[in-house]
Amino acid sequence: MSMIDVVTVGSTYEDILRKQAATVADIDEKIVRLTTAMIESLEIHKGIGLAGPQVNEQLRLFVTHAQDDIPRVFINPEIIMTSDDIVPYEEGCLSIPGVWADVMRPAEITIQAWNEKGRPFTIDAHGILARVIQHEYDHLRGRLFIDRIEEKKRERLMKVYLKNIG
Ligand SMILES: [Zn+2]
Repeated sequence: MSMIDVVTVGSTYEDILRKQAATVADIDEKIVRLTTAMIESLEIHKGIGLAGPQVNEQLRLFVTHAQDDIPRVFINPEIIMTSDDIVPYEEGCLSIPGVWADVMRPAEITIQAWNEKGRPFTIDAHGILARVIQHEYDHLRGRLFIDRIEEKKRERLMKVYLKNIG
């Protein structure tokens, strides 16, 4: 399996990062191949999460491989519970390489999804896993972590980022 390209902000295909992803109709061989390649891509890029739109697939799926956790596949996910305690954590994104910022999000979540074998599952996540799940879930709705930081800070970070890639 070859490495798949990651769509970055400022690149030719960046529009997909702002679109709503579509429900996966069938968890077939194509989806298995795609999610397998996405997990491999995470390892290559040393990332902990990657969503369909980031690899130019407008589909509601993402993969995670958080520290001290196994690789996980989430297809048609729904976050069904978020905790009341909101905590900061520094986030980055393979689609905005080199940009890091503290983002406030719920500390714990419960998510339902299907795995690559077509089996439904529910997990309660906290720590890094809860963080990466929420970040990737945002990607399925066309949202990026920079949307969740203060406007002035966002403008400053993106100005530097776009200058560096330009
Ligand atoms: Zn991201």
